[in-house]
Order: sequence, then structure tokens, then C-alpha cells
Amino acid sequence: MGNILSGKEVAEALKQKLKAEADELREKGVVPTLSIIIVGDRADSAAYIKGAVKRCGEIGIECSVTELPQDLSQNEFLEVIHRQNADEKIHGIMIMRPLPSQISENVVKYEISPAKDVDCFSPVNVSKVMSGEEGGFAPCTPSAVMEILHHYGIDPKGKKAVIVGRSMVVGRPLAMMLLKENATITVCHTRTANLAEETRRADILIAAAGKARMIKKDMVREGTCVIDVGINFDENGKMCGDVDFDEVSSAAGMITPVPGGVGAVTSTVLAKHVIQACKRG
Ligand code: NDP
Repeated sequence: MGNILSGKEVAEALKQKLKAEADELREKGVVPTLSIIIVGDRADSAAYIKGAVKRCGEIGIECSVTELPQDLSQNEFLEVIHRQNADEKIHGIMIMRPLPSQISENVVKYEISPAKDVDCFSPVNVSKVMSGEEGGFAPCTPSAVMEILHHYGIDPKGKKAVIVGRSMVVGRPLAMMLLKENATITVCHTRTANLAEETRRADILIAAAGKARMIKKDMVREGTCVIDVGINFDENGKMCGDVDFDEVSSAAGMITPVPGGVGAVTSTVLAKHVIQACKRG
């Protein structure tokens, strides 16, 4: 079996570092604070918020959750955003998506302050990720992938990185982040002509398609580093990734499990962004 890249281990190491930074800020009288805004009820968002609040609490970040009614108007929503943008006690703002249909994400994304936009909703931060400019916030999930690579000393420089998935949340920003670190990138999607041919070329293979166990052993070259971003539930309700772990782990040089891989690092990256936002003032 390939070496397991443990997201839990990465998250724990990052947590200790952030805790020390949060303590330092608190000693100076600054309480790093994250605001999470949710409109309506969504079970998946509630689970994510629970995890984020717990992780932030362990690190010493204050969290406030603003729960707004499903039928809130766009103007009322924008008022909340503007108020929080102006609130000096709030350092990071995360808006849970999707928003209800009467609130346009294409309007809201221009209103959140880029300096507080810790999950890369604002076009200002998206553009910084795309151009490789420092000082913005990349989305938490691709950042979690980069944390795992860095923690285990896997340098993308000169390597062939193949990403399956081209969403704005994972695939595209991750391609830019790996490119910034001098990998050679291939981004695959549903119209890719011969997926297995592309994935077999990878030194680093990242699966972010949202299709349970679609990456099989014959799609992975011996020794490849395999990072599985997928979170799926199989026919028995068991959580699994996009990679068929049982098959692929014998071929992969290194592999992240699901659960306990990328997903385990995401909320700690969110906390990292809040501390960064707080330090930048
Ligand atoms: P999207 O559905 O937005 O995007 C999926 C992408 O994968 C699309 O670009 C799609 O191609 C491509 N794709 C789908 N099926 C195939 C296929 N059979 N062959 C090749 N490409 C394919 O998903 P997200 O990016 O939002 O999420 C991807 C996965 O990551 C999901 O499992 C999600 O749950 C998980 N996730 C995990 C997080 C974490 O913290 N670990 C956070 C966010 C997401 P096309 O563009 O052509 O349609």
C-alpha cells in the first residue's frame, strides 16, 4: 500500500501553529473573529458550520453565526454584509452558498469586503488566485490540498499535475495554485477525450469530480501521488472519495484517504485565513 497522506495529521500540525498565533493576538487585545452567514436551513451547511465553529474554538478564534430567514430580500442581505464589512471586530466573513434564488451571488460577490473574504467569494480574491498575486485569500479546499503537499514535502515544481474537475471551487483555482508552484498542469473534465490516458501521465493526480470511486487502478501510474478531494456517499451510505481507495492504494506512491484526507484540513485552512485577515488588520 502507498503511504497515507493523513489530513488529520496536517490539520493538527497547522492547528498548533495557529493556536500560538491566536494566543499572541489575544495577548495584544485582539480577538480574531469569524462571522459565518447562512440564509435558510441546509443540512450540509449546518454540518460544515458545526465543524468550522469547533475548529475555530480550539484555535482561539471567536465565531459568530448569523442565521437569516430563507425569504430575506437581496437588499436586506446586502445590509447585513455592509454592516459586517464595517464592523472592526469582525476579521473574516464566510457566506454559506448556495444562496436562495432571490439573492444573486453575482451581486453579493462584489459587496463582501475582499480583506474579510476568507473563502474567496470576491472577484478581487479570485483574480489574485488566477494571477498568482500574494495577499488575497484562495478558496479553502484547494488551499487544503496545497497544505497537504507542503506538509509532506511534496514539491510540485517540474511535476506533471493532472486535475480531474474544473469547478471554480476546486479544480480551476487549484490548477493556478499548482502552476504558481511550477507544476505542469492538465485539467480534465467530462469532455476529456481519454481520461485514463491523461491521469496515467500524472506525477500528482488530484480527483475533484464528485463521482464515487471513479478513479480506478488502471488510471494511475505506479508511484503517483494521489489526492482525493471528492466527498461522496456510496449505495450503502458510506462516505467515499472519487478514488477507488482499495484498488488504487496499492499502485499509488502516496494517497489521501476519505474521510481523513483533504476534508479534514479545510476548516483549519479557514481558521488560517481568519488569523491572516486579523493580522493584516
Ligand atoms: P462540481 O460538480 O462543481 O464539479 C465537478 C467537476 O468534475 C466538473 O468540472 C466536471 O466536468 C468534472 N467531472 C465530473 N464527472 C466527471 C467524469 N466522469 N470525468 C471527468 N470529469 C468529471 O464539483 P465540486 O468541484 O464542487 O466538487 C468536487 C468534489 O469535491 C465533490 O465530491 C465535492 O463533494 C468535493 N468537495 C470537497 C470539499 C472538501 O473540503 N474536501 C469541498 C468542496 C467540494 P464538467 O465541467 O465537464 O461538468
